[in-house]
Amino acid sequence: MSPLVATSCRACGGSPLRAFYERRGIPVHSNRLLTTPEAARRESVGDLLLTVCPRCGFIQNACYDSGVHDYRVSYEDSQGHSARFRAFADELLTGLEARHGLASRRVLEIGCGRGDFLVELARRSAGAIGIDPSFRESEVSRAAPKHVRFLAEEYGERHRELPADFVFCRHTLEHIPEPAAFLRMLRANIQKPEAVLYFEVPDAERILREGAFWDIYYEHCSYFTEDALRELFERTGFEVLRLARGFDDQYLLLEARPAVAPSATAGEGESRAGGGVVPLTEHFTRCVAESLDRWAREADRWQQTRSRVALWGSGSKAVGFCSALRSTDEVHCVVDINPSKQGTFQPGAGLPIVSPEALLRYRPDVVVAMNPIYRREIQDELDRLGVRAELLAL
Ligand SMILES: [Zn+2]
Repeated sequence: MSPLVATSCRACGGSPLRAFYERRGIPVHSNRLLTTPEAARRESVGDLLLTVCPRCGFIQNACYDSGVHDYRVSYEDSQGHSARFRAFADELLTGLEARHGLASRRVLEIGCGRGDFLVELARRSAGAIGIDPSFRESEVSRAAPKHVRFLAEEYGERHRELPADFVFCRHTLEHIPEPAAFLRMLRANIQKPEAVLYFEVPDAERILREGAFWDIYYEHCSYFTEDALRELFERTGFEVLRLARGFDDQYLLLEARPAVAPSATAGEGESRAGGGVVPLTEHFTRCVAESLDRWAREADRWQQTRSRVALWGSGSKAVGFCSALRSTDEVHCVVDINPSKQGTFQPGAGLPIVSPEALLRYRPDVVVAMNPIYRREIQDELDRLGVRAELLAL
């Protein structure tokens, strides 16, 4: 595959870009449900070249090719199964209700996945429409209240007429290669001045500071720090009302409304975020090299002690983690509590994805949690099952 290397910033048009992280041949679909190990190992791969814009701080995969993605095919990205995640969503909606009112609003969710969150939104609002090209009927949508509508398509200009005055877009903007063009289109579509938008994306600053290479994967072609995200929204015609961190500071939570007057950073050449992000990307490059060394030593120890290893959490982090490791020979399985993933195989390494109960059969010596935030939950589950394994976390 020949990478299409972008030379200018897809958020502000600036150039030149600075490259700081590269991976060749990584799976392009981290969450595809694959029913045989062979199919999982055959999954398409792409190249990653992360670049930062020194002007606005936007980070993009300059090699990203949107043509490789087809989100209509078996795709599973729901986090709704974790109690920890449900508690976060609950607290989030209570806050949004208090600040903007939800009960009388008509909600549109762009990138609604299977609709877990949309169904929760519907319970608290006057109407709910979800749009997602990967949407398909499931027990979630079948049990949804009558006033919920799902559209299995990509959001575009033609959705201008949809009745909505509260737009949600969670964990979607980072999948969009042209975020500025997308937000301008959304701004043009929003008719009501009282409309509110809620966007949620991974916080790239945390990823850069922690050298969290497992949070970098092909589907995420766009990465935002707080300042870069704010600038992008201001430049595309929005007023940022609130920008906070949540879910143990892993996510950026942005609330905005259509701007009445152009903002101070709306003009060309006014960007300031880039100066803060470039040193972070340099830190990331050093940090990843050290971290890969550390996990390579850990993997050597597993090999010497003939340890059986299980990963816990089969999402994109596990794919990112495995594709950066030199070898996954000691890893025997990946646990996921989401029943629709169990029985499938992880793209790339082809590892079986299993239920927590299956650990009684796999008898791992080491369990590596792909998200430290779930460490408590995972330890409780291991204790409940009577699985005595060393628990490590990324
Ligand atoms: Zn830029």
